[in-house]
Amino acid sequence: METYRNYIGGKWVESVSANRTENKNPANVDDVLGVVRLATREEAARAVEAASEAARSWRQTPAPARGRIVARFARLLEENKEDLARLLTREEGKTLSESRGEIQRAANVADFCAGEARRMNGETIPSELPSNFAYTIKQPHGVVAVVTPWNFPVAIPVWKIAPALVAGNTVVFKPATNTPATAARIVALFAEAGLPAGVLNLVLGSGSDAGDEIVNHRAVRAVSFTGSNGVGVKLYEQCARRGVRVQCEMGGKNPVIVLEDADMNLAVESTVQGAFGSTGQRCTATSRAIVVDRVADNFIERMIARAESLRIGDGSDPSTEMGPIVDAAQFRSVLQYVDIGREDGASLVCGGGPADGAGLRKGYFVKPTIFAGVTPDMRIAREEIFGPVLSVMRVRDFEEAMQVANDSEFGLSSSIFTNDAARIFRFVEEIETGMTHINSPTTGGEAHVPFGGIKSTGIGDFEQGSTALDFYTELKVVYVDYTGRKREGNLY
Ligand code: NDP
Repeated sequence: METYRNYIGGKWVESVSANRTENKNPANVDDVLGVVRLATREEAARAVEAASEAARSWRQTPAPARGRIVARFARLLEENKEDLARLLTREEGKTLSESRGEIQRAANVADFCAGEARRMNGETIPSELPSNFAYTIKQPHGVVAVVTPWNFPVAIPVWKIAPALVAGNTVVFKPATNTPATAARIVALFAEAGLPAGVLNLVLGSGSDAGDEIVNHRAVRAVSFTGSNGVGVKLYEQCARRGVRVQCEMGGKNPVIVLEDADMNLAVESTVQGAFGSTGQRCTATSRAIVVDRVADNFIERMIARAESLRIGDGSDPSTEMGPIVDAAQFRSVLQYVDIGREDGASLVCGGGPADGAGLRKGYFVKPTIFAGVTPDMRIAREEIFGPVLSVMRVRDFEEAMQVANDSEFGLSSSIFTNDAARIFRFVEEIETGMTHINSPTTGGEAHVPFGGIKSTGIGDFEQGSTALDFYTELKVVYVDYTGRKREGNLY
């Protein structure tokens, strides 16, 4: 059985740690993929030092040359797509088609970032003084820490590592403890693409130990994080004390609004996709359906029929439409929210327990679950569940729908189903989310379009698209005086 290794200073090194965990297939816990030795603090610090040693020559490598390596990585991702998709499905549980989609998204992001390497332009600014001008240049921070969750263990690391490298930073990558295999494969492909030793380092360790060591290491100048609000806010506080830049993409409680004139088939199919795709374990998953009274019964009835028809199973079976929950802790947490929903008085109209049919007993399978009669004060309407659980809330009209949709601490994604142009534009203007969709699911994005949230979902710059490199570069302003004389007058 494979024991995963850290990648430090261009070498695969086994951890000396006695602290181990097994990497299990969530669709069948008897299938053990490998063993993780959770890196010690000393090993994590060594990875930061390796990144620090490589920083000078990497920042001096011309950006287009850095971009060529990232482009080569994109090709390797595509060439290895099938193998990597199977590994991702076995490790995280999503269906094979979802895995293939995630890997293609990662390749697209890497391609986009490689192109950005030729566009790291600054500005030239004319002066108010004769024979003077100013210009700006974009420079890397130095060592960047990339801390990622398990739900998109290929795409999220790539959409952080690729722009960090293109911008000239070196990276210490700390993936989630329960997705070490895909993390190691990504790093191996970056190495194969030609990254010099020390430019990208991998530490497989627990967040509270190795992660904490990396984030708080004095050589780390920026931290990019995706995950829970609890951890993100803690990292933000820690980094603020050292004046280190932070980018956090955290939870969501994404609403879909369905108005009386909505195309009901489209609204139902899109909500099924948004709520139950990737087993609801997406930060952009639809978790609240806010439906006007007149069409609510029809919406709920159709949603139940579609949810009950979903084929649940091992993601490696091509007929599976919804895979398992990622691990035992998340499985318990999702089922606990089902109990909370019941206790708070919501009416459970679909699912609501483990899916335990033939072939499902050895995995963390949960039935697609729908609660009706949910009110805005209930915990299932306010807290991120991160599983296939949808809360349906009835409202009188568009005005109340907007008020309920915005009554959330989160602000990641949203969508509306209507053909009324005036309401669509009011929705776009007033909805408090970083991304929004019209007549399509709350999920999904494109590699060349910015991605991020507002309110308590997001801290710092958006990721990807035109904003991909913002977080990974700092600006330097240069004044040039070619008069050869002492400056006349004052510049304030
Ligand atoms: P966490 O926020 O717990 O973990 C995310 C990453 O941070 C992991 O790599 C974790 O390591 C690491 N980490 C944890 N503590 C520290 C620390 N003190 N210092 C440095 N790094 C740390 O998310 P989970 O993956 O456990 O998921 C839990 C919840 O987070 C979900 O239920 C969901 O609500 C939310 N989530 C949101 C996502 C989003 O995209 N918005 C994505 C994934 C999760 P380790 O794995 O070792 O704990």
